[in-house]
Amino acid sequence: MNKRNLVIVALIFLLLDCALVTIKLNTHSRPKPIHKPKPHYKYSVFLTSDDGPLVGSKNLNQLILDYEVPVSLFLVGRNIIADPGLKPYYEAYTKNPYLILGNHSYSHAYGHYKHFYSNPDTVVADFLKCEKILNITSGFARLPGRNVWLLSDKLQKGEKQAMKAAKKLYLDYGYKFFGWDYELRHNGKGKILKDAMTYYKEIKKMLKNGKTFTKNQIVVLMHDQMFTNKKSQEVLGKLILLLQNDDECKLKLVNEYKFQ
Ligand SMILES: [Zn+2]
Repeated sequence: MNKRNLVIVALIFLLLDCALVTIKLNTHSRPKPIHKPKPHYKYSVFLTSDDGPLVGSKNLNQLILDYEVPVSLFLVGRNIIADPGLKPYYEAYTKNPYLILGNHSYSHAYGHYKHFYSNPDTVVADFLKCEKILNITSGFARLPGRNVWLLSDKLQKGEKQAMKAAKKLYLDYGYKFFGWDYELRHNGKGKILKDAMTYYKEIKKMLKNGKTFTKNQIVVLMHDQMFTNKKSQEVLGKLILLLQNDDECKLKLVNEYKFQ
């Protein structure tokens, strides 16, 4: 083969390679979000994620943007002090139009929940510190390590000692606390345990059987750390599509939760 032919062959290979890369990129791009009018929807689904900003927050933020899905986040103030490298993920959250940011305490009780809740004033100070550091103005919160609901004078449920602390923040600062009805669990290293269809069916079953804190509303708990894992990202993406496609279910932010 002469030099000219060699160059032509090389060019053909180069073009072929580029085409293959393009095809590969296209087949790996995420499916489009589904936006349907749902005039007769029955159920409200509230996706929530706790403990960010963490390393997984970057992927969760991208997922939320890709699927154009409302997600309520409960953030931990200390994370960006302990690791300033996490600050860009927090900043990305503040710019994401699909989110609402809630308070999940400054310290996350440093993991010692019983001690933390033994002094309600410490809990109040800890939440106010988080509010200031992360500039959280929504008034929505979730207690660390405790599934406590405190949404109105009537809508209250959860462990007594933690409730005491929540009540102080509710009465003095107008905070509303969300617990959760259902959790997308992971194996401790971020890998989600079940497939999207199973989660979808379980969520629908709970709603149909009235097993949620309030009727026809379900709050789903996730954790930012899950989204370091590829499978967790894929499962959540598929679950979002199933819910977006379901005429009975509407995805919402916690500020749309009905308090009666
Ligand atoms: Zn937490």
